[in-house]
Order: sequence, then structure tokens, then C-alpha cells
Amino acid sequence: MHARLFMIIPCYNEEKVLPLTARMFLEELEDLIAKGKISGDSRILFVNDGSRDGTWGIIQELARNESHFIGLSLSRNRGHQNALLTGLMEVREMADITISLDCDGQDDIHAVEAMVDAWQNGSEVVYGVRSSRDTDTFFKRFTAEAFYKLLNNMGVEAVYNHADYRLISGRVLREFAGFKEVNLFLRGMVPLVGFPSSCVYYERHERLAGESHYPLSKMLGLAVDGITSLSIRPIRLITGLGLGVSVLSFLGVLWAVVSQLTGHAVTGWASTVCLVCFMGGVQLVCLGVLGEYIGKIYLEVKARPRYIVSERTWEE
Ligand code: UDP
Ligand code: MG
Repeated sequence: MHARLFMIIPCYNEEKVLPLTARMFLEELEDLIAKGKISGDSRILFVNDGSRDGTWGIIQELARNESHFIGLSLSRNRGHQNALLTGLMEVREMADITISLDCDGQDDIHAVEAMVDAWQNGSEVVYGVRSSRDTDTFFKRFTAEAFYKLLNNMGVEAVYNHADYRLISGRVLREFAGFKEVNLFLRGMVPLVGFPSSCVYYERHERLAGESHYPLSKMLGLAVDGITSLSIRPIRLITGLGLGVSVLSFLGVLWAVVSQLTGHAVTGWASTVCLVCFMGGVQLVCLGVLGEYIGKIYLEVKARPRYIVSERTWEE
């Protein structure tokens, strides 16, 4: 059976690297077609995420000159997760399989073939997993590890060292379309759909050109979103913490009363300040966590469109 493959590639201000990697993607696609693993009408879809540079012009040019390339443009920058979702949702009725990958060449293109093979062997979702983090700095390695551990402890089912390089079958995508949330954390949501899955290991390279769009602040944001979109365990933890602090407070009250009655009461300035500071800190953190969830509910209730496509290089 010849499967129709769509490679989905989100691009944001990637004019430096796109001409290099587009050729790489095409070579891989043609190789797979020649080997008879995918059908000749497979496509490489670039999703322009509201770039401010010449990225969309390059994509249009690519699509004009080579029929395997297609592109669509979002009406504005919506971020990596939304751009990826747009691509996936756009092709879900046409595709037998989709593979999402970054446009900077960091995701080893050779894993694509292994993913297609895994799909042939019955996996509906194939996760690309980094085999090592040798190319990362110590800081990046440490924070990434802490991130996955935290996710798992919070009850989010995410595959260790897997980002957004993955194969998703058309069948899973059509089910996934029913997940309507606007707070997106795709790597945590895809496992919720179920169906057989497997992993393919690959080495992650350095970016070929241009700069990363994920500084520390954005990574922290993604981590908070990932946890709060998919787990309510932090709220439970707050309840537990509240109970613990209540018990301690009760003991404190007992202690104060006994001290008073036995005439040992000291004018304890230090202990009062400590208690006030501690309670104030705990309460603010708890309020912050609750606020994070209320903010999410607010966004979900409004149910705004998750993406708006402004242009396509193909006829619908
Ligand atoms: N990206 C996007 N929208 C954004 C930021 C990034 O579509 O607002 C794309 C970007 O073009 C790339 C992928 O998401 O294809 C991953 O981004 P990047 O390489 O900057 O992140 P890193 O690999 O450093 O985590
Ligand atoms: Mg990158």
C-alpha cells in the first residue's frame, strides 16, 4: 500500500535556513517515493507562522517551482504549537500519515524513514526521541530533565526526551480533531488519543542557520502551560499544603495558649514576623497557581479560533 505522507514544517522568520533545509526535506521525500514506501503525491507543507522576514516569499517560490512543496500562511504569529496544529488540521482528510518537524534541520531527517517503517508495522503514532543530549549545554540538559520529571510527577503522560518530531497517522489526526482546547501542548495531548505507538531514536543536530526562538522565558512558559493544561495535580497539592499548614497552625495555637496559661508568654516579635511572612508567601503562591487555572478556563470559555489561515499555495 502506498501511503500519502505530509511533512508539516512550521516556519517563523526562517529565511536564512529554509533554502538549505527545503532541499534536504525534498531529497528525503523523493528517496522514500523512489523506494516505494510512500505515494508520489506526498507533500511537504510549510506553515508560515506570521514571519516578519522573507519566509513566506521563499515558500511561495518553492511551491511554484516544485509540486511536492505546498505552503500556507497564518494571519499572524501564533507560536510553534498553533502553527503545527494548523498544518495537521489542514491535511487531516488528505493524509495517510503526517510527520511534523522543525524547519531548522535540528531534527535528523533520516529518522523519517524509520518512522514510516514503524507505521507500516502497525504504529499509529511514532515519537521521535533524542538518543542523547551531548550537544546540549549542562544547563539545558539539567532543565530539560527536570521538566520531563516534573511533567510525569504531575500526571502528564509525555514521552521522555520527545519534543514535536513525530509521525501521526491520518486516523489518529481525525480523532485528535475532537480535542478542541485552545491551550495547546501537543506532546502531552497526542498520547491521550491512544492507539498503538512506538519510538524512533535520533541524534539532534545544531541549528543549520538562524537563531532559536525558544529562550529560557518561553521554555518556562511552555512548561507551565504543559502542566496546567493537562493536569490538575497542582491544585490538589495546594489543598494538601493547606491542610498541612492548618495542622501546624492548630499546634501553634495550642502552644500559644499553653504558654500563656503557664505564664511563659514572651513578647515574640521574631516568631510573629516569621509566621506572617511564611503564610503570606504560601498564600501568594497558591493564589498564583489557582490564577493560572482560572486564566486557562477564561481562554477556553472564549473558545476563539486557534488559527486563522490567510493564504494557501494550493486550491482547496
Ligand atoms: N516556530 C514557529 N513559531 C514561533 C516560533 C518558532 O513556527 O513563534 C518554529 C520555528 O520556525 C522552528 C520550530 O518552530 O521550525 C522550532 O523553533 P526553534 O528552532 O526556534 O526552537 P528550538 O529548536 O531552539 O527549541
Ligand atoms: Mg530549533
